[in-house]
Amino acid sequence: MMQGRTGDWETVIGLEVHAQVASRSKLFSGASTEFGAEPNAQVSLVDAAMPGMLPVLNACAVEQAVRTGLALNARINRVSIFARKNYFYPDLPQGYQISQYEDPVVGAGSLRIDLEDGTARDIGITRLHLEQDAGKSVHDRDPRRTLVDLNRAGVALMEIVSEPDLRSAEEAGAYVAKLRSILRYIGSCDGNMQEGSLRVDVNISVRRPGQDLGTRCEVKNVNSIRFVRQAIEFEARRQIEIIEDGGEIEQETRLFDADRGVTRSMRNKEDAHDYRYFPDPDLPPLELDEDWIAALRETLPELPDAKKRRFTEEYGLAAADAATLVAEREVADYYEAVAADRDAAMAANWVTGELFGALNRAGTAFSDSPVDAAALGRLLDLVSDGTLSNRLAKDVFEIMFETGGDPARIVADRDMTQVSDTATLEAAVDEVIAGAPEQVAQFASGNQKVLGWFVGQVMKATGGKANPKAVNEILRNRLKA
Ligand code: ADP
Ligand code: MG
Repeated sequence: MMQGRTGDWETVIGLEVHAQVASRSKLFSGASTEFGAEPNAQVSLVDAAMPGMLPVLNACAVEQAVRTGLALNARINRVSIFARKNYFYPDLPQGYQISQYEDPVVGAGSLRIDLEDGTARDIGITRLHLEQDAGKSVHDRDPRRTLVDLNRAGVALMEIVSEPDLRSAEEAGAYVAKLRSILRYIGSCDGNMQEGSLRVDVNISVRRPGQDLGTRCEVKNVNSIRFVRQAIEFEARRQIEIIEDGGEIEQETRLFDADRGVTRSMRNKEDAHDYRYFPDPDLPPLELDEDWIAALRETLPELPDAKKRRFTEEYGLAAADAATLVAEREVADYYEAVAADRDAAMAANWVTGELFGALNRAGTAFSDSPVDAAALGRLLDLVSDGTLSNRLAKDVFEIMFETGGDPARIVADRDMTQVSDTATLEAAVDEVIAGAPEQVAQFASGNQKVLGWFVGQVMKATGGKANPKAVNEILRNRLKA
């Protein structure tokens, strides 16, 4: 809910996500899809729309679209139709895009989003269809002319359309994050937003709570989750102000300006009839076999929702921790390797706390973590068997992160073993007490907080190696007397 000058407003959002199908060749040609090639190095005669060329459907792309549909609990349509969407643009040599219109390969489904407070909501998926990507106009290579790069022309995209069920920037961000997570789990799209493998068109409107849907604006081609959130915040505010000033929202297509965090008008929204869709006569209807669909269902791995449920049940994790750990399949596998036969809650703390914190600070990707699951597990074992206090373990972890070393080696080389020996600790405690008559008096007069100060002093005196639990006990005994 948003606060306006004249009362409450509700933001309504529906997303159209374009996800590039992970496939070595394009949707209707054998040209390569590899990222980063020289301009126009990956253009077949079909992609360049040479006269007489015929499209041939890429079976792998269909397979990935169907697997994605299954992962979204969606209806798979046994018959779907490729249609021509006609428009003129210099990066579209055919003069039309082959897409799917009234009969997409995947129908209604749903996606569960995980929110920051640990709750979840189901968002409706309207459809998923296959279509071709366009090429790219290049404006910055030549001072006088616009050039065109057709490497992307004809690359297979899945357009995944949501119902207008999202109600805030946070929910929209969570939706994109979850969709991306599922696509990466099943390997149907690499989810790389910087390289443009996942782009989001954000439809936004505002209304008074309980009223009918308002007129929407569509912000095109947003390429990061943060920008999706920013675009929504800005656009909802802009629309509320227009309506509160007595104006009306015009349905239009807008652009997000990431440098300034604002949206700007691009063109009036075209309607479907402007595209003169009709079935592509070059392509027969796509018919899918029930057994083939069933076999694809078998290829799906355990998906994030199921894994999250299992992590809460099997390991007793809180919903929010489980959601964090299952977002990436590699992280979930890593966690399970650390948690195996160990304290599961402790393992979760170390992975989401120490490891993620260190990766963040170093700007290192999870896949490049210098500490592997086996090494982190061995560190946890040193805490469990009393060799290390939690505090010392954190120091050892930092060294492991820097050097990639083995925890036991580091402890031995640097003499970092925790001191639990009673006589040694008693001597250290007595020395601190002897030097702090003032604090002893404070404790005697009932100030319990001084105890923490004493523990700190003993830790300091022992180079951080004293067993804090033992120190606490000894202190309580000594100070009581
Ligand atoms: P089009 O065919 O013009 O692209 P659709 O009806 O297919 O329009 O909707 C496109 C997207 O816009 C969908 O994700 C849908 O949920 C969303 N949408 C539709 N109406 C609204 C609205 N009033 N406010 C916000 N989003 C909307
Ligand atoms: Mg649309």
